Amino acid sequence: MPIKGKPDAVWKQIMEAETIVLTTHVRPDGDGIAAELALSRILKSLEKKVYVLNQDRTPDMYRWLPGGEEILTLEERPSTGERPLIPNSIDLAILLDCSSMDRIGEVYTYLGKAKRIMSLDHHEQSECLVHDCFIDPDVSSIGELLYSIIPNIHEYLDKDVATCLYVSILTDTGSFAFSNTTKRVFEIVSSLMDYGVEPDFTHRMIYNRRSIQHFRLLGKALERMKIDETGQIVHVILPLSVYRETGADNEDNEGIIEVIRGVKDCKLIIMLRQLDEERLKGSLRSTDSINCVHLARIFGGGGHFKASGFVATGTVNEIGPYIVQRILAEVREMRWI
Ligand code: 5GP
Ligand code: MN
Repeated sequence: MPIKGKPDAVWKQIMEAETIVLTTHVRPDGDGIAAELALSRILKSLEKKVYVLNQDRTPDMYRWLPGGEEILTLEERPSTGERPLIPNSIDLAILLDCSSMDRIGEVYTYLGKAKRIMSLDHHEQSECLVHDCFIDPDVSSIGELLYSIIPNIHEYLDKDVATCLYVSILTDTGSFAFSNTTKRVFEIVSSLMDYGVEPDFTHRMIYNRRSIQHFRLLGKALERMKIDETGQIVHVILPLSVYRETGADNEDNEGIIEVIRGVKDCKLIIMLRQLDEERLKGSLRSTDSINCVHLARIFGGGGHFKASGFVATGTVNEIGPYIVQRILAEVREMRWI
């Protein structure tokens, strides 16, 4: 798939900047957060002033990451007081794992201060609408991208940086299970192990510290699974009432769709969940034949071929069934099943 931008050109811009802000998408995931922290540590070792600013809070499962406490978020900003989050003068803002500018949410309003904006991404539909970009849809994760584009990466690696790069790769490859798990991924991970990465500890910290509310939500999601007449498309609709009953919050959704993905012969999973009174979130997962980006784009979203998402206005009770029908119709129209 086509690469956009040149590694040496983006690295040159990074080297020329002194004050750098790193950000990733709303509802940040392991790839975005761990890549931010790896890059932040590398740039700090080069005497840069680095700030990591995201719209939404870091999920608990990633807070333990080296440097995790340094991440500033608009969600956790004290509502009183004038404390400036980031300096007035920013040489360079780097968007990590964002297929478009709107993915960074309200952080956008802070980047008016930036002299240059750069995107480092691996989404196929990502467009280079900023000053500098490097977009490589063939890499598994932003961790892999950073490892590959930073000259002499080994000079910057220590246990902390290696752990962050590892977590970025681990989470975006579904623990080395998705089709983006290449020989190159294992080569990189193998070299990261030389710096003391602990796969068992890392796995435990991310995946084995789920709340009881997560499991209650999983139970509800499993009860609500519906399968279409072909037996190939499963959908789950989670209204706010389910979150009230279980006490689950946004972070408790993590991993649920990956469980449902395991249904025999299932080619597409559609999960619709209510985010708040006004907005719902759609998540799509597929096997080889169904293009999830195409489907998410119908509703203004995006993502990867086999994993995509979108946010729509409305409630799942009112428009959820319509969204499911629209997706089913599109899948039939495209002759994907
Ligand atoms: P998830 O279902 O885990 O939230 O998202 C799966 C993938 O879809 C993400 O890695 C991201 O690439 C993409 N994605 C999720 N939500 C959105 C969205 O609202 N807009 C866009 N453009 N992409 C999204
Ligand atoms: Mn990613």
